[in-house]
Amino acid sequence: MNTLSNATVLVVGAGIMGAGIAQVAAQAGHRVLLFDLRDGAAVEARRKLAATLDGLVTKGKLAADVAQGALARIEPIAALAEAAGAGLVVEAIVERLDAKRSLFRELEGIVDARAVLATNTSSISVTAIANGLTHPERLVGMHFFNPVPLMKLVEVVSGLATAPAVAEAIFELSRAWGKVPVHAKSTPGFIVNRIARPYYAEALALLLEQAAEPQVLDACLKGAGFRMGPCELMDLIGHDTNFSVTSSVYEANFFDKRYAPSLLQRELVDGGLLGRKSGRGFYRYPDGAPALPVAVHGAPDTAHAVAVHGDGPVADWLEQAAGAALAAQGWGPARERGSGWVGLSVDGARLVLTDGRPAYRLAADLGTPDVAVFDRPLGRAPGGALAYAVAEGASDLWRAQAPAWLAALGVAPLPLADTPGLIVARTVAMLINEAADAVLQGVCTPDGADAAMKLGVNYPAGPFEWLAGWDVPGVVAVLQALDAVYRGERYRVSPWLARRT
Ligand code: NAD
Repeated sequence: MNTLSNATVLVVGAGIMGAGIAQVAAQAGHRVLLFDLRDGAAVEARRKLAATLDGLVTKGKLAADVAQGALARIEPIAALAEAAGAGLVVEAIVERLDAKRSLFRELEGIVDARAVLATNTSSISVTAIANGLTHPERLVGMHFFNPVPLMKLVEVVSGLATAPAVAEAIFELSRAWGKVPVHAKSTPGFIVNRIARPYYAEALALLLEQAAEPQVLDACLKGAGFRMGPCELMDLIGHDTNFSVTSSVYEANFFDKRYAPSLLQRELVDGGLLGRKSGRGFYRYPDGAPALPVAVHGAPDTAHAVAVHGDGPVADWLEQAAGAALAAQGWGPARERGSGWVGLSVDGARLVLTDGRPAYRLAADLGTPDVAVFDRPLGRAPGGALAYAVAEGASDLWRAQAPAWLAALGVAPLPLADTPGLIVARTVAMLINEAADAVLQGVCTPDGADAAMKLGVNYPAGPFEWLAGWDVPGVVAVLQALDAVYRGERYRVSPWLARRT
């Protein structure tokens, strides 16, 4: 395979993505030909790119001569026939299989037989796009993220016919363009759009059963280190776009219930509540999420016996945080490692780290009514929001004391309905499960999944990094607890995890 480092690049489609790809390729030193079916669109895109590059120069992010050089290398063309010399085609046209197929068939008659054909499709099978080509082995997915100049990730997607050398050449080229490429197999949603589904789906499921307000779910996931909560993120993406991605992954998986969209999404779309762009989604704009109710928690009542139960990082954190909370009284918590649960006992009451079991179930299993569960304190920021739920039969005293203890431990407790795995443990367990299935199916490697989720959707860590800080039995326990309550296919455990328990 010829190296693509000096190739003339033909970008087809001069919309949001095509313009970004043209900019990145030109800045990397390529001659770029830009074509769009709509008259004048390529010229207009170049004019906008000139303004973008000028802006970068004004901000001191790009030298003037570098910007001028990049712009000079971008040439709008009026007909595809002018691109005979292109060594690489990157297609970023409308997201329709028939349009992409016929474009590539036409291009095969124009460009050299050795030219590489890349598609920026975000949801169509690369295998299907290549079907009917004379040389399907040279077609590969080169999936950029929006905005292209800023987002580092490129999913290099191989279809059934893609030659490994072609995928490798695009991988290397993406690197040369300053991107972080990750190999992916052509399956619905590729890596990011597939693994990210539960981030929205679990929040939507909790909203549907009125477990919490959107701003509470958002605050809890931000408390776990996510840059945006799922509800504000869906409002930003647009519920129409997000619903359509969800629906296409669902359909492409032969209506596997695991990927079923939410009724709530459809209601929002049907009602035109598309999020920021329509002025209203979960929140009203420009205001955004309403402020959380202010809850003031006094210091917990003096207890006779406080003990930290269990092992692992959360138990260690509890020991240190409860120690700090009790220091003023001149004593610290006892440590009981063999209890079979992680958390705090305060006299007869229990504050338990969720293992998936709802508080009512834990109360029955532990034989005491005064039980509260708290969420997994992932990427714990001091004062960050943390969900908790109190068992239905708990005393009024423990209802007040459980959040007072959480506040004393240094987190901002937010009440949720008594659901399995609350919000963070539930969401993260599902993200890990989806990533595990993707690896099982050879879609990507664990490292690829981690890089893709951190760079493609800005997750604070990758699913396998979360798994390393948790443990397989713990993740499986949360999934099984969810399955025990909801049944159906959604929470089935990936065989990749099951065989590691
Ligand atoms: P867009 O609507 O902004 O641009 C598409 C451009 O392609 C338009 O200018 C249109 O005139 C042109 N076009 C349509 N059919 C054509 C054809 N047959 N030949 C030449 N030009 C044609 O769309 P976009 O957001 O830039 O998306 C383009 C592709 O990139 C799609 O496949 C999309 O799924 C994918 N993608 C989009 C994003 C995103 O966030 N927008 C992210 C990743 C991938």
